[in-house]
Amino acid sequence: MAETKTVHSPLVTYFSMLSLLTLCPPFVILLWYTMVHADGSICQTWDYLKQHGLQGFINIWPRPTAIAWKIIACYAVFEAALQLLLPGKKVEGPISPEGNRPVYKANGVAAYVVTLVTYLTLWWFGIFNPSIVYDHLGEIFSALIFGSLVFCVFLYIKGHLAPSSNDSGSSGNMIIDFYWGMELYPRIGKNFDIKVFTNCRFGMMSWAVLALTYCIKQYEQNGKVADSMFVNTILMLVYVTKFFWWEAGYWNTMDIAHDRAGFYICWGCLVWVPSVYTSPGMYLVNHPVNLGLQLALYILAAGILSIYVNYDCDRQRQEFRRTNGKCFVWGKAPSKIVASYTTTSGETKTSLLLTSGWWGLSRHFHYVPEILAAFFWTVPALFNHFLPYFYVIFLTILLFDRAKRDDDRCRSKYGKYWKLYCEKVRYRIVPGIY
Ligand code: NDP
Repeated sequence: MAETKTVHSPLVTYFSMLSLLTLCPPFVILLWYTMVHADGSICQTWDYLKQHGLQGFINIWPRPTAIAWKIIACYAVFEAALQLLLPGKKVEGPISPEGNRPVYKANGVAAYVVTLVTYLTLWWFGIFNPSIVYDHLGEIFSALIFGSLVFCVFLYIKGHLAPSSNDSGSSGNMIIDFYWGMELYPRIGKNFDIKVFTNCRFGMMSWAVLALTYCIKQYEQNGKVADSMFVNTILMLVYVTKFFWWEAGYWNTMDIAHDRAGFYICWGCLVWVPSVYTSPGMYLVNHPVNLGLQLALYILAAGILSIYVNYDCDRQRQEFRRTNGKCFVWGKAPSKIVASYTTTSGETKTSLLLTSGWWGLSRHFHYVPEILAAFFWTVPALFNHFLPYFYVIFLTILLFDRAKRDDDRCRSKYGKYWKLYCEKVRYRIVPGIY
């Protein structure tokens, strides 16, 4: 079994774990409270907390109710069933550090379509009103916070007692094992991949479901949907549609191929994605800004363009790797570096690094359109309040940290070849600046 290589030093891990455990859950609740009950105003929430202190905070923290657990359970079971039962092509993931190749069933688009059609049908025929989800959102987030923590304990125990493959192992430190995870590809049985479930079918799917929920709630509340809400919902749906369209590509990215299933990635996908990622829409429910057709269309076009460029960057890299460099990049043969590396089992392998197209502009150029897209689905909220922009700011910090983590990892994997790549492509994210 592989020994876990720590992503950051133990001190950084302790600090980030403590912060995540102690700050993120209350933050999720305060974010929800401010968006839904305090007019999106941080000052209003701050005044309330100043007046009522800790007891006031405890009072606004919703207890997980039976209806919240029921909604989460129905959703999770439905998504798990779709993941297992819907047909899909078999696709292989990248070779793992232990030399394994995980096999997946690519049925993400089908699961996405079935989920949204089912949700809208239930609403249309009056069987289940999505407004109920919005009305119990605080309780749902509260239940997710505790439920996901228990789930991460399960992952930790499974990693110790019943790992699914030899791409698993302990760092020798219980806290690091819990936080960064032990297994790279944990499964239940042979076919149910846990990270596909937590990251894609629960986390990313909840983003689309909640985007629709907020839109429907505004309609139910006001009898119409403001153009700002339309722009926000459409852009978020385009983004999540792109995600599922490209889901098999996602299985080649850091989240799946490098980050182990632990608190960091799984809690994040189960709690942070449904709450923080969807928060601009949550804000718009009670703030139906009217942008006017022209401005709305401009923002929509800019958002769609950003999502397209982000998609095209990922596509370019994957197409290049899939064809072993025998493809066209921006109409020309790609320029590349043939980089060799040694696996943990001592085998020497080679990877190709693309140095033209989007990947010649900077080493992580794809993060620029990712951040811009988030800005464009938030900007319909205009600038009355800061809080809707929290996600954009968080995402910027996350991606800058991720770029550094990825560079460090690639440097230790490819050594002199990575150095050569950095000499050829000098900027990390923003061409000419950083
Ligand atoms: P990627 O996995 O797409 O890219 C990083 C990996 O690609 C590296 O680890 C390396 O892996 C390989 N690589 C690096 N440089 C090159 C190159 N020049 N040519 C070929 N391969 C290269 O990164 P991410 O997982 O960070 O991003 C994937 C997508 O997810 C992006 O669209 C991003 O914007 C999005 N994303 C969104 C987030 C959100 O919260 N909204 C968070 C994170 C990502 P190898 O070891 O195989 O060489």
